[in-house]
Amino acid sequence: MEPALQNRKATNVFLVGPTGTGKTSTAKQVLEAHFDGRAACVNCWKYRTAHEVLSEILLTFRIPAYARESVGEQVRKLEKLAKSKSLVVYLDEVDRLVDRDLLYVLSRVGIGLVLSSTHYHTLSSLPSRITSSLGLSEIQFPKYTVEETIAIVRDRVEQSVRPGALRTSLLKLSAVLADGDARVALETIRRAALMAEHNNSKRIELSYFDNHSQAVFPRASFYVVGKPSPAWNDPLVARSLEKLLLDFASPESIKVARSIPEKDFSIREENRHALAADIGNTTVDINLEAQTIAHHCPIWAKSSLEQKFCPHVVKLFLSIGPERARTTLALLLSDLDSWKLSHNDRFALI
Ligand SMILES: [Zn+2]
Repeated sequence: MEPALQNRKATNVFLVGPTGTGKTSTAKQVLEAHFDGRAACVNCWKYRTAHEVLSEILLTFRIPAYARESVGEQVRKLEKLAKSKSLVVYLDEVDRLVDRDLLYVLSRVGIGLVLSSTHYHTLSSLPSRITSSLGLSEIQFPKYTVEETIAIVRDRVEQSVRPGALRTSLLKLSAVLADGDARVALETIRRAALMAEHNNSKRIELSYFDNHSQAVFPRASFYVVGKPSPAWNDPLVARSLEKLLLDFASPESIKVARSIPEKDFSIREENRHALAADIGNTTVDINLEAQTIAHHCPIWAKSSLEQKFCPHVVKLFLSIGPERARTTLALLLSDLDSWKLSHNDRFALI
């Protein structure tokens, strides 16, 4: 985009990547810092037609725009301005734009374009005469890793949450569950903080996460007892649960767990604070507040020392809703050192 700073035409840019990876904020920051007074940002989800988009652009440059004037008249006004100084227009969520020819028109009057979309196929869906005249260079915004999400969230939390009010484990949990979308992680914490405030609590507790997780993470919402979760059929959830389980158990253990007959298994307790099951002659008790898993079996006697599961414990996670399982495993994984996996003799029934 540098040529536009010397009043030459900028190379058109296409920013693509999943939501929450910083496309919009990056574009806005660059435009504000370097193209002040020469850039317009329009969200095509909000303004979809050529007339609406052009009105927004003209108004940004303080040129009156009228509902009844034609697109041609709007373009002429813009062209006149573009002759006096090089302009850059940022069209966010460009895949929502109805009149695609507008891109061609803007480019032809010498305006530098920054387009962004979450869809990789956006460009290929444009007529080739448009794409070839735009000559867009693509910049990809990959999904954040969990570590990157944690760093982003931590940075924001330090600025906005009282020190000590949010446990590190919950901060990590928000990052693990957000699955590369920093905005989701931040929104989760924001809502949990509001709940804490509402409850006059000095700390953000896990339960404040639960209450809102359904709204924030459609894939990580808590399982409702007695209702089979529709996400059972979601291959993404199933795969992500399998992946998380492999952090705790070998593929063999998972296979053995799957072979435990349903008649030998029953859930004894399932709520926000606890998960418990009777499996054959033994029991599994998970306490989310105390951060303990109590169980008794020969494999667990060894595996629990290495923070690994035996097939019984795996069976429990395979039997609760996949979303509850995923959330609980993510919680465990984000704060494994604080968890106590105990070989509890009280339950020594076998
Ligand atoms: Zn076991």
